[in-house]
Amino acid sequence: MKVPFFDLVRQFDPIRKEIQSSLDELFKTQQFILGSQVGFLEKAMAEYCRIRYAVGVASGSDALFLALIALDIGPGDEVILPSFTFFATAGAVSRAGALPVFADIDPETYNLDPQDFEKRITPRTKAVIPVHLYGQCADMEAIVEISKARQISVIEDAAQALGAEYKRSSDSSARRAGQMGDIACFSFFPTKNLGAFGDAGLVASDDGELAEKVRILRVHGSHPKYYHKLIGINSRIDTIQAAILQVKLKHLETWTSERQKGAKRYELLLGDLFSSLAGAKLPETQYENRHIFNQYVIRVSERDQLRQFLQEQGVGTEIYYPVPLHLQECFSSLNYHQGDLPNSEKASREVLALPIFPELRQEEQDYVVDRIKAFYKKQ
Ligand SMILES: *Cc1c(COP(=O)(O)O)cnc(C)c1O
Repeated sequence: MKVPFFDLVRQFDPIRKEIQSSLDELFKTQQFILGSQVGFLEKAMAEYCRIRYAVGVASGSDALFLALIALDIGPGDEVILPSFTFFATAGAVSRAGALPVFADIDPETYNLDPQDFEKRITPRTKAVIPVHLYGQCADMEAIVEISKARQISVIEDAAQALGAEYKRSSDSSARRAGQMGDIACFSFFPTKNLGAFGDAGLVASDDGELAEKVRILRVHGSHPKYYHKLIGINSRIDTIQAAILQVKLKHLETWTSERQKGAKRYELLLGDLFSSLAGAKLPETQYENRHIFNQYVIRVSERDQLRQFLQEQGVGTEIYYPVPLHLQECFSSLNYHQGDLPNSEKASREVLALPIFPELRQEEQDYVVDRIKAFYKKQ
């Protein structure tokens, strides 16, 4: 048997007709730049995320960059972020001309460690970017509290966490990813839970002024047309992508619950084995969170051997992420060294993402589990 790491073809087939008719509407009007579907998607996304304003942009990476620029973050400013994340989180900070300051993660959730964040605050710290990695919210209560006390802006990188919820039990209305900071960034990269047919992203905020600034910045800072008070960039979400995402958003809850079922099954089938392996760990959902499992990431000390074995057996896996950002060559001038952020470094050596997409079949999942067990029998 061969089990792909993910398979977007399976997701497309059942919604082909809906997508085609949405695209036909657009093709009739030929409004490819900021056509009416962009506004419809922004409204639907704001509602889904329970955030007042949403602005569609060209990618999740641009969403982060535009959020930073809207907050007037630039040269001389420091922005704290976890070292264990996708490159874009840090790339946006450097593109804005500010200094990325890397903090360590909590080894249980792989999300920003609030204490380590607090330790790295200086008078130049202007913002923090907690990342809700793999689909589980970072410990936002602690992060927001520290940030408020020090007047630091909170930019949520919710690229992997659309629809995730934080601490569902502590009050009656659970807070969704993106609702807890000053501004939030989402990505519709094809492998995210809500994926476009190319690149696309979104910035969301309850602060109307901030959202309006992003809206202006995504059209070169032009407002009114051809008058520039700000220097922006060209970063609009394509109307084509908005037309596709509008259709796909209606299916998101179903897809998310399929991912959650898959995660439950892995836990059931792998729980005994993992509790018997030293240093091994299945994903842990903390603080009554709603984890949306953009990725299902296990931790094992013999990660590379296991990945090699699974590959030989026809099982696709991925490593998110093999090099923590503080040790990336492009940041060598920042003078971080091996050992500076031990939890991030250890995670980079030990994490392995298993197939978890909504259309993954039970017999495929059984095969993945069976092959993992076979690997440990050999050991
Ligand atoms: C995907 C992702 C991004 C960037 O989104 P793009 O749409 O690919 O530019 C940023 N941060 C994280 C954590 C991501 O996973």
